[in-house]
Amino acid sequence: MTHDTHQLCEGVAPLQARTEPWMEDLLADSEQCAALVREYGSPVNVLDFSPVARNARELEDAARAHGVTLGVCVARKANKALGLVHAAREAGLGIDVSSLAELQQCLDAGVAGERMIVTAAVKSPALIELAVRSRVTLSLDNADELEAVVDVAERVGAVARVALRLASSDGDIAATRFGLTSQAWDQRVAAAPAQHIVVEGVHFHLNAYSARERAVVLREALPWVDRLRQAGHPVTFVDMGGGIPMSYLAHREQWTRFWEALNEDSDGELTWRGDRLGLVDPHAARPSPAMYPYWQSPVRGQWLSDVLTARGIDGATIAADLTARELELRCEPGRSIVDGCGMTLADVAFRKSTSDGIPLVGLAMNRTQVRSTSVDFLLDPRWVRPASAGEPGQPMEGFLVGAYCVEEELLLRRRLRFPHGVARGDIAAFVNTAGYLMHILESASHQLPLALNVVRTGTGWARDQIDAGAPAVAHRALA
Ligand SMILES: *Cc1c(COP(=O)(O)O)cnc(C)c1O
Repeated sequence: MTHDTHQLCEGVAPLQARTEPWMEDLLADSEQCAALVREYGSPVNVLDFSPVARNARELEDAARAHGVTLGVCVARKANKALGLVHAAREAGLGIDVSSLAELQQCLDAGVAGERMIVTAAVKSPALIELAVRSRVTLSLDNADELEAVVDVAERVGAVARVALRLASSDGDIAATRFGLTSQAWDQRVAAAPAQHIVVEGVHFHLNAYSARERAVVLREALPWVDRLRQAGHPVTFVDMGGGIPMSYLAHREQWTRFWEALNEDSDGELTWRGDRLGLVDPHAARPSPAMYPYWQSPVRGQWLSDVLTARGIDGATIAADLTARELELRCEPGRSIVDGCGMTLADVAFRKSTSDGIPLVGLAMNRTQVRSTSVDFLLDPRWVRPASAGEPGQPMEGFLVGAYCVEEELLLRRRLRFPHGVARGDIAAFVNTAGYLMHILESASHQLPLALNVVRTGTGWARDQIDAGAPAVAHRALA
């Protein structure tokens, strides 16, 4: 008997994920899901980077509609697979790298140095040297880094291309550890030996997803660009970083209803032992600020339009200010550029209850393998029952737990409903996990191997080369 993967599992307060056609094709093929888990072990990250070009085009089209040239640099740290690098290169996009390994791999994959920017929070001498030698722009964070870059440029006899990372001094913008104020930079840059650095851009990256805050900092950056140009620096771009919003949920009402339900959940039924998921104000049925906003509007293109049509410094719009200066606008989307690119599959190892009677479903994975820095991953898994699965138990409600030997090893902190029970060998499919959720916090504690990554090819699935050094597959598969 085959089951609709929606019917086998849903949240007690449902949060149904938006999917791509390739995901539905795979979910409908329970035997293919089982074969992937059997061949590559549990969990396995399955990736199809074809949405990257479409997501980028949405941003480029929105900018073009306002006469603005947009340079999209994919934030590589959102997903480590080399398939993302290939997709970005083929779509003509740049890449934002945050470590020596990320940079080296991109160069090896044939990405031109001029199409990359290094935004690593700490930059080793080796990273700086490779960037300088490869004509990659370095986003400078502080004066010591400026000095280190000048030293390397001097030593290798090259000119370092740099962007200055701006820490906003606007009272509306949260304080940040990143960058320096424009005044601080002006002093430092004036004192630096001009023959070894060329200031090509101004860079910033803000937390959260506010279009209004991007406009605030762009209004601060533009007069600074004018000052830098007057001082002789050939600034050609302003890079507004990442944080471009996306939406994971198929239905806005589910998002609203979930927070209303959690707010009213005085018995702690919806979540693991009554977890409030960071809800601070018990009287506001608003999403918790500790959670990623799984439903947002506007996203991507429309959001960028809102930034560009915001009031500029010369009385018109930000778009008009950029075009009047012949400035390229750049951005570094991570999460929103890999929207629609991945799923994580893991199989059921056991069913049981806690000593006080809470039903549990144990998956062969750990919680760092589907997690971002926010409090929980809030989407309902899809549930696949291959022919190889065992006998399902009774209809139940319970929680997903993982492989780390700690009490709080919850894969999701929400109570899930299984109207057709759960069987050993069922497969949980975590949807749309390519952006951060697979890799940003993954760990190999307990010496459990990291998940393998497989990328969709024309004819099937192939291991991504990022795992070339991983232990043999035979050691991971359960079978
Ligand atoms: C993480 C990061 C990004 C990507 O952010 P998203 O929220 O994934 O779009 C871009 N630029 C910098 C400097 C970053 O640190």
